Amino acid sequence: MVLLFLYKEINMLDVQKIREDFPILKRKVHGNPLVYFDNAATSQTPQVVIDAIVDYYSNYNANIHRGVHTLSQEATDAYELARKKVQQHFNAANSHEIILTTGATHSINIVATGFANLLSQGDEIIVSALEHHSNIVPWQMLCEKTGAILKVIPMNQEGELLMEVYDQLLSDKTKLVFTNHISNALGTVNPIEEIIEKAHKTGAAVLIDGAQSCPHIKPDVQALDVDFYVASAHKLCGPTGVGVLYGKEDWLNKLPPYQGGGEMIDQVTFEKTTYAGLPHKFEAGTPNICGGIAFGVALDYMNSIGFDSIAGYEQELLNYGTEKLLAIDGLRIYGTSKNKTSVISFNLGDIHPYDVGSIVDKLGVAVRTGHHCAQPIMDFYKIPGTIRASFSFYNTKEEIDILVASVKKAKMMLS
Ligand SMILES: *Cc1c(COP(=O)(O)O)cnc(C)c1O
Repeated sequence: MVLLFLYKEINMLDVQKIREDFPILKRKVHGNPLVYFDNAATSQTPQVVIDAIVDYYSNYNANIHRGVHTLSQEATDAYELARKKVQQHFNAANSHEIILTTGATHSINIVATGFANLLSQGDEIIVSALEHHSNIVPWQMLCEKTGAILKVIPMNQEGELLMEVYDQLLSDKTKLVFTNHISNALGTVNPIEEIIEKAHKTGAAVLIDGAQSCPHIKPDVQALDVDFYVASAHKLCGPTGVGVLYGKEDWLNKLPPYQGGGEMIDQVTFEKTTYAGLPHKFEAGTPNICGGIAFGVALDYMNSIGFDSIAGYEQELLNYGTEKLLAIDGLRIYGTSKNKTSVISFNLGDIHPYDVGSIVDKLGVAVRTGHHCAQPIMDFYKIPGTIRASFSFYNTKEEIDILVASVKKAKMMLS
């Protein structure tokens, strides 16, 4: 008991100290202190990550995997160290199972395009109703190319997947299942362990879109036994333009390269080209070297705070924000699953979300308004969009109070 208590104490977040790490949190917007609640769209960047970017361009900017000169060696070592950090973070068995991409979208497209070679007419692939457009459109394009059929796991009013329908959709025709780990629009945590296990029983592969879960949860790809897992660095305190595709070695070997070019080849002649091994087969051209290195630093930073502490604190913010916002008359929250992360999607009666978003922005509060790249979810609720406040570990209850006050003000002005 004592030990547990101590452990908890050590892991408590010192939010005020953490906030010092993020220079942007000191700025003002329209004369008010910034309250940044658009973390589900992109996270803010701590000074250590900014420093890593400056250090790269100031001291060892060079192309990688090519030159024998010192700068190129240094850049290559730093980039490959970043890959190792990503491997450790996701607990992948091998570093060559980590493909560094430009983001979750790019990662999904590598797999969706590659599967064109592995599917035929009448094969089925299953998607969830809770997806981001980037985990819908590439698969629709795949179906157009191959004649495969797209099936959808529907959702309920709480924003949860209907798992009994999933059971019915699965068959020996199912070749691939893809869903997000956490919904960016509603915050629902999907039961991916169950989804993966059931898909594997029918022999289907599974891709999990972890773009929205990685800021809150440290995934263990081996424990999950997932075939593909994707994420974006910019939602994890890293820079934009960097992402991860984790794939099991066997699957990555089965997929053809996504792009042709430098870096991804073994031998090139005009008669025939042979491809490089993993991971380079999927990394044509000069990558975002600095971004990859900075991503590794961002993972170090988040791990130094600890994902257990992050998740615990964010749940506190979620509970506090939910209670305070629901106290506003006429406010409705979309996505009320018991298992959700710190995303609150809401509307104020019939008031258009955009109007609310504009007023709270004038008061310094950054929220997202619109369909959040998940139009099917908005269609399900028959709404044009929502106002979405998404909290990170550097946010505070005082900031939530400011959000609540500004939403009340918007309501007064608009109704
Ligand atoms: C942000 C997001 C994406 C897309 O990520 P990019 O960084 O824009 O490629 C995909 N899926 C989910 C669930 C997201 O939240």
